[in-house]
Amino acid sequence: MAGWRSWTICSAPSKNIIKNEDMNTANYNLQNKTVVITGAARGIGFAIAEAFAVQGSHVVIVDLARDSVDQAVQSLTQRGFSASGEVGDVTQGEAMEAIFASIVSVRGGIDCLVNNAGVTRDNLLLRMKQEEWDLVLKINLSGSFICTQKVFKHMMRARSGSIINIASVIGIIGNAGQANYAASKGGLIAFTKSCAKEFASRGVRVNAIAPGFIETEMTATLPAEVVASYAKAIPLQKMGSPADIARVCLFLASDDSSYLTGQTIAVDGGLTMH
Ligand code: NAP
Repeated sequence: MAGWRSWTICSAPSKNIIKNEDMNTANYNLQNKTVVITGAARGIGFAIAEAFAVQGSHVVIVDLARDSVDQAVQSLTQRGFSASGEVGDVTQGEAMEAIFASIVSVRGGIDCLVNNAGVTRDNLLLRMKQEEWDLVLKINLSGSFICTQKVFKHMMRARSGSIINIASVIGIIGNAGQANYAASKGGLIAFTKSCAKEFASRGVRVNAIAPGFIETEMTATLPAEVVASYAKAIPLQKMGSPADIARVCLFLASDDSSYLTGQTIAVDGGLTMH
Protein backbone atom coordinates (compact mmCIF):
# COMPACT_ATOMS: atom_id res chain seq x y z
CA MET A 1 0.00 0.00 0.00
CA ALA A 2 1.35 3.41 -0.89
CA GLY A 3 2.15 5.97 1.83
CA TRP A 4 -0.16 8.74 2.94
CA ARG A 5 0.91 11.10 0.22
CA SER A 6 -0.15 8.70 -2.48
CA TRP A 7 -3.48 8.29 -0.73
CA THR A 8 -4.24 11.96 -0.98
CA ILE A 9 -7.67 12.56 -2.47
CA CYS A 10 -7.66 16.21 -3.22
CA SER A 11 -8.07 19.02 -5.62
CA ALA A 12 -5.85 18.80 -8.64
CA PRO A 13 -5.61 20.56 -11.97
CA SER A 14 -7.36 18.82 -14.79
CA LYS A 15 -7.93 19.48 -18.46
CA ASN A 16 -10.62 16.81 -18.59
CA ILE A 17 -13.14 17.95 -21.14
CA ILE A 18 -16.51 16.25 -21.23
CA LYS A 19 -17.64 15.22 -24.65
CA ASN A 20 -21.03 16.79 -25.30
CA GLU A 21 -22.67 13.42 -25.82
CA ASP A 22 -21.66 12.34 -22.27
CA MET A 23 -24.11 14.90 -20.95
CA ASN A 24 -26.99 14.22 -23.31
CA THR A 25 -28.21 11.19 -21.42
CA ALA A 26 -30.90 12.97 -19.41
CA ASN A 27 -33.06 16.03 -19.82
CA TYR A 28 -33.25 17.88 -16.53
CA ASN A 29 -35.16 20.91 -17.82
CA LEU A 30 -32.31 23.25 -16.92
CA GLN A 31 -32.61 25.41 -20.05
CA ASN A 32 -32.03 29.14 -19.39
CA LYS A 33 -31.28 28.54 -15.71
CA THR A 34 -28.47 30.66 -14.29
CA VAL A 35 -25.80 28.54 -12.62
CA VAL A 36 -22.77 30.01 -10.84
CA ILE A 37 -19.80 27.70 -10.26
CA THR A 38 -16.79 28.77 -8.20
CA GLY A 39 -13.30 27.53 -9.08
CA ALA A 40 -14.65 26.56 -12.49
CA ALA A 41 -11.81 27.56 -14.81
CA ARG A 42 -10.49 24.00 -14.73
CA GLY A 43 -10.84 20.54 -13.23
CA ILE A 44 -14.11 19.34 -11.74
CA GLY A 45 -15.56 22.86 -11.71
CA PHE A 46 -15.10 23.23 -15.46
CA ALA A 47 -16.65 19.81 -16.06
CA ILE A 48 -19.67 20.95 -14.01
CA ALA A 49 -19.89 24.19 -16.03
CA GLU A 50 -19.73 22.24 -19.28
CA ALA A 51 -22.44 19.83 -18.15
CA PHE A 52 -24.87 22.65 -17.32
CA ALA A 53 -24.00 24.45 -20.55
CA VAL A 54 -24.85 21.35 -22.57
CA GLN A 55 -28.24 21.30 -20.79
CA GLY A 56 -28.91 24.84 -22.06
CA SER A 57 -28.20 26.68 -18.80
CA HIS A 58 -26.29 29.96 -18.68
CA VAL A 59 -23.14 29.24 -16.67
CA VAL A 60 -21.08 31.81 -14.81
CA ILE A 61 -17.50 30.71 -14.27
CA VAL A 62 -15.93 32.31 -11.18
CA ASP A 63 -12.21 31.84 -10.63
CA LEU A 64 -9.05 33.65 -9.54
CA ALA A 65 -7.16 34.44 -12.75
CA ARG A 66 -8.52 36.53 -15.63
CA ASP A 67 -6.70 34.48 -18.31
CA SER A 68 -8.03 31.13 -17.17
CA VAL A 69 -11.57 32.48 -16.69
CA ASP A 70 -11.56 33.95 -20.22
CA GLN A 71 -10.17 30.74 -21.69
CA ALA A 72 -12.79 28.59 -19.97
CA VAL A 73 -15.64 30.88 -21.04
CA GLN A 74 -14.33 31.00 -24.60
CA SER A 75 -14.12 27.23 -24.85
CA LEU A 76 -17.86 27.08 -24.06
CA THR A 77 -19.10 30.06 -26.09
CA GLN A 78 -17.10 28.89 -29.14
CA ARG A 79 -19.29 25.79 -29.15
CA GLY A 80 -22.45 27.87 -29.00
CA PHE A 81 -23.09 27.51 -25.27
CA SER A 82 -24.19 30.37 -23.01
CA ALA A 83 -21.45 31.33 -20.56
CA SER A 84 -19.85 34.31 -18.88
CA GLY A 85 -17.00 34.76 -16.42
CA GLU A 86 -16.19 36.67 -13.26
CA VAL A 87 -12.80 37.04 -11.63
CA GLY A 88 -13.39 36.48 -7.94
CA ASP A 89 -11.84 35.09 -4.78
CA VAL A 90 -14.44 33.23 -2.70
CA THR A 91 -12.80 34.43 0.52
CA GLN A 92 -13.53 38.10 -0.28
CA GLY A 93 -17.03 38.84 0.98
CA GLU A 94 -17.61 42.30 -0.49
CA ALA A 95 -16.25 41.37 -3.89
CA MET A 96 -18.35 38.19 -4.02
CA GLU A 97 -21.45 40.14 -2.98
CA ALA A 98 -20.87 42.56 -5.86
CA ILE A 99 -20.37 39.67 -8.30
CA PHE A 100 -23.65 37.97 -7.29
CA ALA A 101 -25.53 41.29 -7.41
CA SER A 102 -24.24 41.99 -10.90
CA ILE A 103 -25.21 38.49 -12.11
CA VAL A 104 -28.71 38.96 -10.67
CA SER A 105 -29.09 42.37 -12.33
CA VAL A 106 -28.11 40.95 -15.73
CA ARG A 107 -29.81 37.54 -15.52
CA GLY A 108 -32.75 38.30 -13.21
CA GLY A 109 -31.70 35.76 -10.58
CA ILE A 110 -29.46 32.82 -9.72
CA ASP A 111 -30.98 29.34 -9.84
CA CYS A 112 -28.01 27.30 -8.69
CA LEU A 113 -24.70 27.93 -6.90
CA VAL A 114 -21.99 25.27 -6.90
CA ASN A 115 -19.39 25.89 -4.17
CA ASN A 116 -16.55 24.04 -5.88
CA ALA A 117 -13.42 26.17 -5.27
CA GLY A 118 -11.09 24.20 -3.02
CA VAL A 119 -7.41 23.67 -2.26
CA THR A 120 -5.14 21.28 -0.40
CA ARG A 121 -2.01 21.95 1.66
CA ASP A 122 -1.15 18.43 2.83
CA ASN A 123 1.17 17.69 5.71
CA LEU A 124 1.32 15.31 8.64
CA LEU A 125 -0.24 17.02 11.64
CA LEU A 126 2.96 17.46 13.64
CA ARG A 127 4.56 19.24 10.69
CA MET A 128 1.51 21.20 9.60
CA LYS A 129 2.08 24.93 9.59
CA GLN A 130 -0.58 27.25 10.94
CA GLU A 131 -0.74 28.89 7.47
CA GLU A 132 -1.48 25.53 5.85
CA TRP A 133 -4.34 24.94 8.28
CA ASP A 134 -5.71 28.49 7.95
CA LEU A 135 -5.61 28.68 4.15
CA VAL A 136 -7.45 25.40 3.58
CA LEU A 137 -10.16 26.25 6.13
CA LYS A 138 -10.45 29.78 4.72
CA ILE A 139 -10.97 28.78 1.09
CA ASN A 140 -12.82 25.45 1.43
CA LEU A 141 -15.09 26.28 4.37
CA SER A 142 -15.24 30.06 4.89
CA GLY A 143 -15.35 30.63 1.11
CA SER A 144 -18.43 28.39 0.87
CA PHE A 145 -20.01 30.23 3.82
CA ILE A 146 -19.42 33.60 2.15
CA CYS A 147 -20.82 32.58 -1.25
CA THR A 148 -23.79 30.75 0.29
CA GLN A 149 -24.72 33.72 2.47
CA LYS A 150 -24.46 36.21 -0.39
CA VAL A 151 -26.40 34.07 -2.86
CA PHE A 152 -29.10 33.03 -0.37
CA LYS A 153 -30.26 36.65 -0.08
CA HIS A 154 -31.26 36.50 -3.76
CA MET A 155 -32.63 32.94 -3.72
CA MET A 156 -34.70 33.71 -0.62
CA ARG A 157 -36.48 36.52 -2.46
CA ALA A 158 -37.13 34.23 -5.42
CA ARG A 159 -38.24 31.49 -2.99
CA SER A 160 -36.31 28.92 -5.00
CA GLY A 161 -32.78 27.74 -5.62
CA SER A 162 -30.33 24.89 -5.26
CA ILE A 163 -26.94 25.17 -3.56
CA ILE A 164 -24.45 22.35 -4.10
CA ASN A 165 -21.32 22.08 -1.95
CA ILE A 166 -18.43 20.03 -3.34
CA ALA A 167 -17.05 18.27 -0.26
CA SER A 168 -14.90 15.11 -0.33
CA VAL A 169 -14.93 11.56 1.00
CA ILE A 170 -12.01 12.74 3.13
CA GLY A 171 -14.54 14.85 5.05
CA ILE A 172 -16.30 11.58 5.92
CA ILE A 173 -13.47 9.07 6.50
CA GLY A 174 -10.47 11.35 7.19
CA ASN A 175 -6.97 10.84 5.82
CA ALA A 176 -3.47 10.88 7.28
CA GLY A 177 -1.70 14.01 6.07
CA GLN A 178 -4.93 15.86 5.36
CA ALA A 179 -6.27 16.94 8.77
CA ASN A 180 -6.84 20.49 7.49
CA TYR A 181 -8.59 19.31 4.31
CA ALA A 182 -10.68 16.70 6.21
CA ALA A 183 -11.76 19.31 8.77
CA SER A 184 -12.74 21.74 6.00
CA LYS A 185 -14.76 19.16 4.07
CA GLY A 186 -16.31 17.59 7.20
CA GLY A 187 -17.25 21.12 8.24
CA LEU A 188 -18.75 21.72 4.81
CA ILE A 189 -20.95 18.63 5.19
CA ALA A 190 -22.21 19.86 8.59
CA PHE A 191 -22.66 23.37 7.13
CA THR A 192 -24.76 21.83 4.33
CA LYS A 193 -27.15 20.24 6.83
CA SER A 194 -27.60 23.42 8.88
CA CYS A 195 -28.22 25.57 5.79
CA ALA A 196 -30.67 22.97 4.45
CA LYS A 197 -32.70 23.23 7.67
CA GLU A 198 -32.52 27.02 7.72
CA PHE A 199 -33.36 27.57 4.04
CA ALA A 200 -36.00 24.86 3.49
CA SER A 201 -38.97 27.05 4.37
CA ARG A 202 -37.75 29.58 1.76
CA GLY A 203 -37.77 26.99 -1.04
CA VAL A 204 -33.98 26.72 -1.22
CA ARG A 205 -32.35 23.26 -1.13
CA VAL A 206 -28.76 22.65 -0.06
CA ASN A 207 -26.89 19.40 -0.73
CA ALA A 208 -23.30 18.22 -0.88
CA ILE A 209 -21.37 15.87 -3.13
CA ALA A 210 -18.43 13.96 -1.70
CA PRO A 211 -16.21 12.97 -4.62
CA GLY A 212 -13.87 10.04 -4.14
CA PHE A 213 -10.76 9.44 -6.22
CA ILE A 214 -11.31 11.45 -9.39
CA GLU A 215 -9.12 11.31 -12.50
CA THR A 216 -7.36 14.62 -12.93
CA GLU A 217 -4.06 15.78 -14.38
CA MET A 218 -2.36 14.90 -11.11
CA THR A 219 -3.65 11.36 -10.99
CA ALA A 220 -2.94 10.93 -14.70
CA THR A 221 0.77 11.16 -13.91
CA LEU A 222 0.68 8.46 -11.21
CA PRO A 223 2.40 5.17 -12.02
CA ALA A 224 0.02 2.44 -13.21
CA GLU A 225 0.74 0.24 -10.17
CA VAL A 226 -0.23 3.06 -7.78
CA VAL A 227 -3.48 3.65 -9.67
CA ALA A 228 -4.14 -0.10 -9.56
CA SER A 229 -3.66 -0.12 -5.77
CA TYR A 230 -6.21 2.72 -5.43
CA ALA A 231 -8.64 0.92 -7.67
CA LYS A 232 -8.42 -2.25 -5.56
CA ALA A 233 -9.80 -0.38 -2.55
CA ILE A 234 -12.77 0.92 -4.57
CA PRO A 235 -15.65 -1.54 -4.98
CA LEU A 236 -16.27 -0.41 -8.57
CA GLN A 237 -12.51 -0.95 -9.16
CA LYS A 238 -11.83 2.28 -11.02
CA MET A 239 -11.30 5.98 -10.49
CA GLY A 240 -14.11 8.44 -11.17
CA SER A 241 -14.14 11.20 -13.76
CA PRO A 242 -15.09 14.89 -13.41
CA ALA A 243 -18.15 14.04 -15.53
CA ASP A 244 -19.33 11.62 -12.80
CA ILE A 245 -19.47 14.55 -10.38
CA ALA A 246 -21.03 16.88 -12.95
CA ARG A 247 -23.92 14.50 -13.68
CA VAL A 248 -24.90 14.41 -9.98
CA CYS A 249 -24.81 18.24 -9.93
CA LEU A 250 -27.34 18.32 -12.78
CA PHE A 251 -29.66 16.08 -10.78
CA LEU A 252 -29.27 18.14 -7.58
CA ALA A 253 -29.98 21.38 -9.45
CA SER A 254 -33.06 19.99 -11.17
CA ASP A 255 -36.64 19.49 -10.00
CA ASP A 256 -35.98 15.73 -10.23
CA SER A 257 -34.36 16.12 -6.78
CA SER A 258 -37.06 18.42 -5.39
CA TYR A 259 -37.60 16.26 -2.26
CA LEU A 260 -33.90 16.09 -1.45
CA THR A 261 -32.10 18.49 0.88
CA GLY A 262 -29.34 18.33 3.49
CA GLN A 263 -27.86 15.21 1.92
CA THR A 264 -24.28 14.34 1.08
CA ILE A 265 -23.99 12.07 -1.93
CA ALA A 266 -20.69 10.19 -2.07
CA VAL A 267 -19.65 9.76 -5.71
CA ASP A 268 -16.78 7.43 -5.01
CA GLY A 269 -17.29 4.05 -6.64
CA GLY A 270 -18.56 2.68 -3.32
CA LEU A 271 -15.44 3.56 -1.29
CA THR A 272 -17.38 4.98 1.67
CA MET A 273 -20.70 3.15 1.44
CA HIS A 274 -22.60 3.14 4.72
P1 NAP B 1 -8.49 22.15 -9.13
O1 NAP B 1 -8.27 21.51 -10.46
O2 NAP B 1 -7.34 22.51 -8.29
O3 NAP B 1 -9.39 23.44 -9.40
C1 NAP B 1 -9.75 24.29 -8.35
C2 NAP B 1 -10.04 25.63 -8.95
O4 NAP B 1 -10.42 26.50 -7.85
C3 NAP B 1 -8.83 26.27 -9.63
O5 NAP B 1 -9.19 26.84 -10.85
C4 NAP B 1 -8.39 27.34 -8.60
O6 NAP B 1 -7.79 28.47 -9.19
C5 NAP B 1 -9.73 27.73 -8.02
N1 NAP B 1 -9.60 28.40 -6.74
C6 NAP B 1 -8.71 28.16 -5.74
N2 NAP B 1 -8.86 29.03 -4.73
C7 NAP B 1 -9.89 29.86 -5.10
C8 NAP B 1 -10.50 30.97 -4.48
N3 NAP B 1 -10.10 31.43 -3.28
N4 NAP B 1 -11.53 31.59 -5.12
C9 NAP B 1 -11.94 31.16 -6.35
N5 NAP B 1 -11.38 30.11 -6.98
C10 NAP B 1 -10.37 29.47 -6.36
O7 NAP B 1 -9.45 21.24 -8.21
P2 NAP B 1 -10.38 19.97 -8.58
O8 NAP B 1 -9.58 18.73 -8.47
O9 NAP B 1 -11.12 20.26 -9.81
O10 NAP B 1 -11.36 20.00 -7.31
C11 NAP B 1 -12.54 20.76 -7.30
C12 NAP B 1 -13.26 20.54 -5.98
O11 NAP B 1 -13.49 19.14 -5.80
C13 NAP B 1 -12.44 21.00 -4.75
O12 NAP B 1 -13.31 21.56 -3.79
C14 NAP B 1 -11.85 19.71 -4.24
O13 NAP B 1 -11.56 19.77 -2.87
C15 NAP B 1 -12.96 18.72 -4.55
N6 NAP B 1 -12.50 17.33 -4.68
C16 NAP B 1 -11.62 16.95 -5.64
C17 NAP B 1 -11.22 15.60 -5.73
C18 NAP B 1 -10.25 15.12 -6.80
O14 NAP B 1 -9.92 13.93 -6.82
N7 NAP B 1 -9.79 15.96 -7.71
C19 NAP B 1 -11.70 14.67 -4.81
C20 NAP B 1 -12.58 15.11 -3.81
C21 NAP B 1 -12.98 16.45 -3.76
P3 NAP B 1 -6.18 28.52 -9.39
O15 NAP B 1 -5.86 27.47 -10.39
O16 NAP B 1 -5.91 29.90 -9.87
O17 NAP B 1 -5.59 28.23 -8.04
